[in-house]
Amino acid sequence: MRDKKRIVVKIGSSLLTDQVRLTPRWGFMQYVLEDIARLREAGHEVVLCSSGAVALGMRMVGVTPDSAGLRDKQAAAACGMPLLLDAYKHIGHQHELQIAQILVTLGDFEHHARFLNTKNTVDRLLASGVLPIINENDTITTEQIRVGDNDRLAAKVAQMIQAQHLVILTGVDGLYDRNPSEPGAKLVETVHDVSQYLTVTEGVSTLGSGGMLTKLQAANMAQNAGCHTLIANGEGEAPISAALTGRRRCTTCVAHAEPLTSWATWLTNRLQMAGSIVITQAAAEAVERGERGIDRHDVHSIAGSYAKGDVIHVYDEKGVERARGMTDFGSEETAILVRNQEVPVKALLGYQSRGVLIESTNLIVLDDRHLQWERQPEPA
Ligand code: GLU
Repeated sequence: MRDKKRIVVKIGSSLLTDQVRLTPRWGFMQYVLEDIARLREAGHEVVLCSSGAVALGMRMVGVTPDSAGLRDKQAAAACGMPLLLDAYKHIGHQHELQIAQILVTLGDFEHHARFLNTKNTVDRLLASGVLPIINENDTITTEQIRVGDNDRLAAKVAQMIQAQHLVILTGVDGLYDRNPSEPGAKLVETVHDVSQYLTVTEGVSTLGSGGMLTKLQAANMAQNAGCHTLIANGEGEAPISAALTGRRRCTTCVAHAEPLTSWATWLTNRLQMAGSIVITQAAAEAVERGERGIDRHDVHSIAGSYAKGDVIHVYDEKGVERARGMTDFGSEETAILVRNQEVPVKALLGYQSRGVLIESTNLIVLDDRHLQWERQPEPA
């Protein structure tokens, strides 16, 4: 690792928190921050995505991981966040690390202007030599508007700052070719196509929200953005550098050889589906050939309630996801335009427009590198 790198490190609640006492695991945090301090001395830039707020706040709220509902978790996050930061500050001080906190919500990734704004803040902190510690603002998010797991959140951060490495520290050595408790399960050291492993990754950790599935989804996002993802055991000394230098066996999801542009990566790396449309087979073929965007005459049906500027998923009539793109019309206007194809746009909406729903420059055709999403049901 001679070149200077940007590295995003994600650590989960199970590593950070004593699962019985729901208190910080100080020894683990010591090893991680010591390692980060060393990486920074070597000239690398590091961003930490840390879970743990909800788990650490549970005692104050009087709940347990098994009993906590959404409101309990929101309150626990509010209690746990200062505890978590206090622990980071205390240990960081011993390693001359200055820390800063950034709490994000889903919209900070899904809306392009907010995405750039967040990126600028992280870049500015890195330029000042401060260690940004990022987490989701769990206190104000609900199931509908949350990222939910810090694996994909960390991948979005990696994409955002154009990191070369995303290191996901976890309680196992990496991805196994079957359930690791089954006899004969083997560690998979190199992954090019994550879709081959999606079915062997069921199961969620008890304290955090992620499992191997969200890690692979995160890795897929990072790959498309030109970033390698290492899924590695976080226990012991120098867990990050041990994985990066190959001293520790782990799973490396190799970056795509031809990363997408930042715009295409942002358009296709989605955390939540804002809405979707089904287009005719003929339109899908034309879009695939890169000939054009999508206009109202192409649309067969619409699902979801979305706004102008949202990224929507485009399916063909056979249910195959073909493209993702930023739409110029919200779902209500789209429905009016599609239902009244022969009426001029001005007569329908009150203003002049060509009625192009997604311009070709805002539309990315999906290929094998993308994980397809299942289409939402159409409204009854
Ligand atoms: N944001 C959550 C927390 O701080 C954790 C999410 C996750 O487990 O991935 O506790």
